[in-house]
Amino acid sequence: MSLDKSRELYKKASTLLPGGVSSPVRAIKPYPFYTESANGSKITDIDGNEYIDYCLAYGPKILGHANPTIKEAIIKQLDKGWLYGTPTDLEVNLAEKIASLYPSIDMLRFVSTGTEATMSAIRAARGFTGKDKFIKIEGGFHGAHDAVLVQAGSGATTLGKPDSLGIPADFTKHTLQTPFNDIEALTAVIEKNDDQVAALIMEPVMGNIGPILPEKGYLEEVRKVTEENDIVLIFDEVITGFRLAMGGAQEYYGVTPDMTTLGKIIGGGLPIGVFGGKKEIIDMVAPSGAVYQAGTFSGSPASAAAGLAVLEVLEKEEVHKKLNATGDAFRSRLTEIVTDLNLDYNVTGLASMFMVFFGDKPLNYQEALKCDKESYLKFFFKMLDSGIFLPPSQFETNFLSTAHTEEDIEKTLSAYEANLK
Ligand code: PLP
Repeated sequence: MSLDKSRELYKKASTLLPGGVSSPVRAIKPYPFYTESANGSKITDIDGNEYIDYCLAYGPKILGHANPTIKEAIIKQLDKGWLYGTPTDLEVNLAEKIASLYPSIDMLRFVSTGTEATMSAIRAARGFTGKDKFIKIEGGFHGAHDAVLVQAGSGATTLGKPDSLGIPADFTKHTLQTPFNDIEALTAVIEKNDDQVAALIMEPVMGNIGPILPEKGYLEEVRKVTEENDIVLIFDEVITGFRLAMGGAQEYYGVTPDMTTLGKIIGGGLPIGVFGGKKEIIDMVAPSGAVYQAGTFSGSPASAAAGLAVLEVLEKEEVHKKLNATGDAFRSRLTEIVTDLNLDYNVTGLASMFMVFFGDKPLNYQEALKCDKESYLKFFFKMLDSGIFLPPSQFETNFLSTAHTEEDIEKTLSAYEANLK
């Protein structure tokens, strides 16, 4: 496999872009492959190497790359113009659809990224409650804004820098932390900060330190404790929304938060973010209320058109039923491979999310950090050599899409077996 063109491009890229990339998770040492195109389950680099893609742009491409229905919807919108600076029926229709699927969402605001969505959701919760502090889960990743870059998962943890330079301590002094799957620790933080906590923001299934599932009853307990203490519960469903089910993790687990953030899938691969929730909270957002939030690209017609198209396909083709069954079968086969090879590794995930943890199955961030990330990275390169593109870190999640064929899956499982060996 030649990567000559990528290596050459990296030389130039690294003088212009930090690490030669536009987002740290894309950095691969000594250099990443640069992409030429992607179609269906495959991504092709500028040297002509083709990989079966399980990174899938870190989650949005549930229908695979260049899905024809979404492509057609985008092209149709491009013909009518793709940015107006005025409201459209597209955003109203998409909002109506989202609200019908997420019982936690009476009203919502479109933004352009998941980062903006969580930043604004926390602001709205603070505005609503009049309190400053909020709790996040250790290792949770909610984008790259100041208040949440404390023990953050994803690229921050991969690079060994879960906190960021450049953020004044004053900006994170209201950010409290608690481990996932530990209701006692959560209760203790709440008690210690009696009546000062505006919100708890959490990924209901952690997706940015590998998939870590909530233990039975945990989300229900979280719901109960936050309700009893007047804390706004925000489910960050930027990954899990439309991934686990149409109604995300809240539908999958039957637990309804007060607010929800969405992104990734709902833009059909174009930039989008959403924060929504109870009417009394979202009604406080400008211009209705005094929580200010605004954006030139918010409710982008192209993203909204792509989002409506994704929803149509997901619903019409009953995608989750089939895809989640494929995920179950895939994880079982992976588990057999790991067991047969007598490895102390563990397969985790649910629905169409999966990861082989090079260590014990973690219940929280601290446990995830114990896995053998150096060996995982060696394994990542072997898989790349075998034509399989996984996220280049143990602290991410692999995704299946409707575009993955049986042949892809068989090839991938054989590569897992050979390379784990
Ligand atoms: N929240 C979660 C759970 C995420 O996984 C991410 C990104 O990976 C974000 C928020 C931030 O979204 P974006 O990268 O669109 O800003």
